[in-house]
Amino acid sequence: MPATRTLPTREAADLIDLTRSLVSKELAPRAAEAESEERFPRDVFLTLGRAGLLGLPYSEEYGGGGQPYEVYLQALEEIATVWSSVAVGVSVHALSCYGLAAYGTEEQRREWLPDMLGGELLGAYCLSEPHAGSDPAAMRTRAVRGGDHYVLNGAKAWTTHGGHADFYTVMARTSDHRSRGISCFLIPADTPGLTAAAPERKMGLTGSTTATMHLEDVRVPAHRRIGEEGQGLSIALSSLDSGRLGIAAVATGLAQGALDHAVRYAQERETFGKPIIEHQGLAFVLADMAAAVESARATTLAAARLRDHGLPFTTEASIAKLVATDNAMKVTTDAVQVLGGYGYTRDFPVERYMREAKVMQIFEGTNQIQRMVISRALTRPARGGITVVGE
Ligand SMILES: Cc1cc2nc3c(=O)[nH]c(=O)nc-3n(C[C@H](O)[C@H](O)[C@H](O)COP(=O)(O)OP(=O)(O)OC[C@H]3O[C@@H](n4cnc5c(N)ncnc54)[C@H](O)[C@@H]3O)c2cc1C
Repeated sequence: MPATRTLPTREAADLIDLTRSLVSKELAPRAAEAESEERFPRDVFLTLGRAGLLGLPYSEEYGGGGQPYEVYLQALEEIATVWSSVAVGVSVHALSCYGLAAYGTEEQRREWLPDMLGGELLGAYCLSEPHAGSDPAAMRTRAVRGGDHYVLNGAKAWTTHGGHADFYTVMARTSDHRSRGISCFLIPADTPGLTAAAPERKMGLTGSTTATMHLEDVRVPAHRRIGEEGQGLSIALSSLDSGRLGIAAVATGLAQGALDHAVRYAQERETFGKPIIEHQGLAFVLADMAAAVESARATTLAAARLRDHGLPFTTEASIAKLVATDNAMKVTTDAVQVLGGYGYTRDFPVERYMREAKVMQIFEGTNQIQRMVISRALTRPARGGITVVGE
C-alpha cells in the first residue's frame, strides 16, 4: 500500500508516479534474488539515471532535476520500500556529488557534474578509515603536494560502491592540523594505485558492495581538488547533513515496506477462527508500526523543508536520522513478530528488512553521534526564534 503523499507541484507528483512505476516494474521483481546472491545491480543505476532519478536535488543547469529535497526524499523513500541497497546507493551517489556541486569551481562542475547526475558515472564517498569512523578528524590518509599534483597514500574503509564506482570523493590529510588539515579530491576509478579490497561480508544490505579502498602513490592533478586546501572536513560534514536526510528517507521507506507486508499478512493469516488483524493485541502492534512510520516521515520532511528554505538544518537532520532509523529498527522487528515463525524464514522478505534496518543506525554517523549533535544544540542561544518563510 503506497504512502499517502502531499507534494508541492504537479511535476513532483509525476516524478513520484514515475518512481513508483519503475519500482514495481524494474526493482521489485529483482530485489530478493540480487540480495541473496550478493550481486551489485550496476545497471539499475543507469536506468534510474536515464529516468532522471539520480540527480533530483541538483540544478537543472548541470543535468539535475532541480527538485526540492522534500520531493527527492519522497522518491528515495519509494525506492526503499522494495530495495534498500538501491535507495542507499542513490543517496550515497548524491552525497558523492555534493562536494563538487556546492564547492567546486564552475569549470569543475561543467566538466564532471552532467555525467555524474545522468547516471553515466557512479560515485562513492570516502571519509571513514579503519581506525577513524565516528571521529573522521583522526584520519591518516595523506595527500602530499608536489608541483601541479598531489600524491595520496592510505586506506579508506567501508566505501559503499567500492570497486564499482566510476569516481571517488576522497578526504585526505594535507597538513597535521586536526580539522583544517583535510582536503577533498575527486578521483576517477581508473587512476593508477587506487584499488578495492575484497568486499565486506555483511549482515544485510548485501546487494550493496562495501569495500576498503587502498591508495598507493595515487597521483591526482591539483585541479581535481574540490574547494580550498584544508576545507575537506567541512565539505565532508556539510555533505553529511544532506546525506543523513537521505538515510532518514531510506529508513522511512524500508519501514513502510515492512509495515505493508505485515498488514497484508495479518489480513490473510487466521488463528482462533479469524484473521490475526482482528485480534486487538496484534492490531495494536500494527497501529504502533504505522504511527512510527508516519512520525519518521514527518520528522524527515520537516527537516527537508528547512533545507529547501535555505535555513540551518544540521540538528534537524540528525533528529530525522535518529528518529527514522530507530523507528525502522523497531518496525521491522515487529514485522517479523507479526508474521510469527514465517517471519523468521527467508521465504518472506521481512527478515531481510530487519537486517537492513540495523545498518541505518550505524552509517553516516551512528545514532550515538546524532545524539551528540542534537544535545550540543540544546544550549545554543539561537533557540526559540520564529522565521517566516512564506513571504
Ligand atoms: C554498510 C556500511 C556502509 C558504509 N558506507 C560508508 C561510505 O560509503 N563512506 C564512508 O566514509 N563510510 C561509510 N561507512 C562507515 C560508517 O560511517 C562508520 O562505520 C560509522 O561512522 C561508525 O564508525 P566505526 O564503524 O569506526 O565505529 P566507531 O567510531 O569505532 O564506534 C564504535 C561505537 O562507539 C560509539 N561511539 C563512538 N564515539 C562515541 C562518542 N563520542 N560518544 C558515544 N558513543 C560513541 C559508536 O556509536 C559505536 O557504537 C559505512 C559503514 C557500513 C557498515
